[in-house]
Amino acid sequence: MNITHYMPCKKPRRSTRLEFKEKEAVKEKSVQSSPLGFFDMFPVELKLMFLKYLSVEDLSNLTITSKVFRNLVEGFLTIHPILKKDIVDRIHIQSKYLPMPAIKHTDYIQLFGRLGLLIKRSTCLYSTKDRLKFINEVLTKLLCCNYTEHCEDLSMCLAMSCFGKFLHTVIAGWDDCECVRAYEAICSHTCLMKNVKLVLMSKSGSHQRLEFEIRCFFRRVFLDPCSSIQDKAFWMTRILKPWPLVYQARLIFLIYGPVLEDEILWFELSENTPAVNSVQSSQHMGGLANALQILHHYKQEWSEDDVVSIIDEMTSSPEEWLAENMAHLLILCGDVITSKLLISKAINGRMMELSSLITSFCLVCVKNSLNLDYVIAMIRHVLRVIDSAKDRQIFSCSITDMFKELIIDIHEFEEGQGNDMFYMVTSMAEFTKKIMMLAFKEP
Ligand SMILES: [Zn+2]
Repeated sequence: MNITHYMPCKKPRRSTRLEFKEKEAVKEKSVQSSPLGFFDMFPVELKLMFLKYLSVEDLSNLTITSKVFRNLVEGFLTIHPILKKDIVDRIHIQSKYLPMPAIKHTDYIQLFGRLGLLIKRSTCLYSTKDRLKFINEVLTKLLCCNYTEHCEDLSMCLAMSCFGKFLHTVIAGWDDCECVRAYEAICSHTCLMKNVKLVLMSKSGSHQRLEFEIRCFFRRVFLDPCSSIQDKAFWMTRILKPWPLVYQARLIFLIYGPVLEDEILWFELSENTPAVNSVQSSQHMGGLANALQILHHYKQEWSEDDVVSIIDEMTSSPEEWLAENMAHLLILCGDVITSKLLISKAINGRMMELSSLITSFCLVCVKNSLNLDYVIAMIRHVLRVIDSAKDRQIFSCSITDMFKELIIDIHEFEEGQGNDMFYMVTSMAEFTKKIMMLAFKEP
């Protein structure tokens, strides 16, 4: 029998303590079963408001905690776009008189790295096609031509360097074929190929601004942010491979050749010898030599012959380089590439070019206080591939004849100009000393 049946109050008396305990238990159960725990008790508006107070880094960490948080962050990013106007303004335009300090450049580039990581994590469930669409949306917002204010001075604009860092962070760890898709998507989005074709098919220097824009785009977006040589070789190959050899050589010069402000100095190395010492030589030709070395090491897509042909083409177009500049470039490229190029000239019977290069090696070594053993080693490589004794003799004599020709030329045409005569005579003297020491080494 239930005694409560006879009581005036039907409701059984319960302790408030027990009621509270019961409520707590229900709450705890619901908190435990909901994916965001206590956070789920807030309405969605409040949840999104909380996210506003988090840094990009915290948001990015939140996306990898759970799928629900990832969805929440994704929703947050659609309402609050990651590119704020003040950031875009700051990276496009900088005062000439008060340039942004280098440390600030790094800060902005690092910020885009963090944004890239956030996007990489929040879009991890998307297909490559959708992720590429997202990357292109960011690119559209950052392109100088889409910027509402004027962004005249490309050399001071940071936008593409920031995008480069963003891109490389998003695609880090992607398969090569996916990276190729990324390259193609960006090229077609920006009509890059059309512009490159126009520049390559026109006379060098006839589209000065466009040439510089292409250089900056390739360097800042694809090449400079690379973290390893292998990575750089991959992207350089993507840029060069669609074109025939003549254009490949031209593109390398366009991307890494010497520049003055926003002009690519196509004829500088055919008219002057700008590199007096090793610091200047690396300023003018260091980038080119480095690019050639990178291709040379990327054996899966470039043979030694390809690299030699590119050097041959690059140093004879749009005009033949001065032999001293070519010698300088080869010294920077290293012994393996140099000996390969000399051997190919020897096999093709290009004796005049060879002797001109050998004398220039002597000159560069003297100017930079380097040992002439390098030159002797290169001569030995060449002699090894010349079959007939007579041809070997002709080659040896052509070197000293070349010295004679050059000294007479300087004497006749450039009397009193700089130290050319001094350096040339010293080169010949040093070379002769080296040969004499080798010849009379035995007692
Ligand atoms: Zn800009």
